[in-house]
Amino acid sequence: MPTKNVTKTANSSPPSLLSTEGGLAVTFVGTGGAFSKRFYQTNIIVAKGETHLLVDCGTRTPEALDKLGIPITRIERFLITHTHADHIGGLEEAMLMNRYFAKKKARIIITDLLRGILWNQSLRGGASWNEVHDGKALNFDDFWLQEKPKRIRGGDRELATIRVGPLEIALFRTMHIPDSAAGWEDSFPSYGMIFDGRVLFSSDTRFDPGLLEWTQGLFPIETIFHDVQLFSGGVHASLDELSSLPVATRAKMVLMHYGDKMPEMVDKVGELGFAGIAEQGKTYRF
Ligand SMILES: [Zn+2]
Ligand SMILES: [Zn+2]
Repeated sequence: MPTKNVTKTANSSPPSLLSTEGGLAVTFVGTGGAFSKRFYQTNIIVAKGETHLLVDCGTRTPEALDKLGIPITRIERFLITHTHADHIGGLEEAMLMNRYFAKKKARIIITDLLRGILWNQSLRGGASWNEVHDGKALNFDDFWLQEKPKRIRGGDRELATIRVGPLEIALFRTMHIPDSAAGWEDSFPSYGMIFDGRVLFSSDTRFDPGLLEWTQGLFPIETIFHDVQLFSGGVHASLDELSSLPVATRAKMVLMHYGDKMPEMVDKVGELGFAGIAEQGKTYRF
């Protein structure tokens, strides 16, 4: 029989990545760029209280989630930034597992603009013809419950917001592809976001100092998770370009979406005044 003086051992099970005590948490399922073989892909779990969402679901994300002990069917809500495979390649697995095994639809935060591209140009081929009802193949709404961000008019740039549970999300367009586009208006639809006005996640963008100045003027941003590439040219901001940003901006910037050589660059990243590089599997709390 236990005595009163027995000290209970601390609960050794890992804390859930899908909920928090109330604060905002960002967990990196992966931190790699599109062709990384060591760091999965830059997809994050955002949790606040009992609300969670997965931002992007790349080709290797179902496997990366499994390593974290999270079946893809546990994800209640997805947010898709753009339709490159390192951001959407795992969605077919999520859709089919949800429909045929979990027998449910997941929620997806997506604008109508991106929804049309995602379904008609990417997902439809693998998902539409698995069943036929009244002569019709399946459509987007057979798999997903869409949640539409609301467009805010009158800003310098396109901005849309959505609230899910206690979490406020602001989405903005980025200038990712093609590299010949003059600005975000001419670029293929791609979104970055800000959580609770505090944490900016660039998703994929070329170097865009105007974006960082504009968002930091609108919101009291504490941390900027920004994509980086270790060479110049191409469709992401390079380390050299990001190094030209103001000291205060670099000091709150954590670099992500990097190539496999990034570990060799960690010291240089620190010397250049950045806050650091995102770590795979790590949870950042705000
Ligand atoms: Zn990417
Ligand atoms: Zn991309």
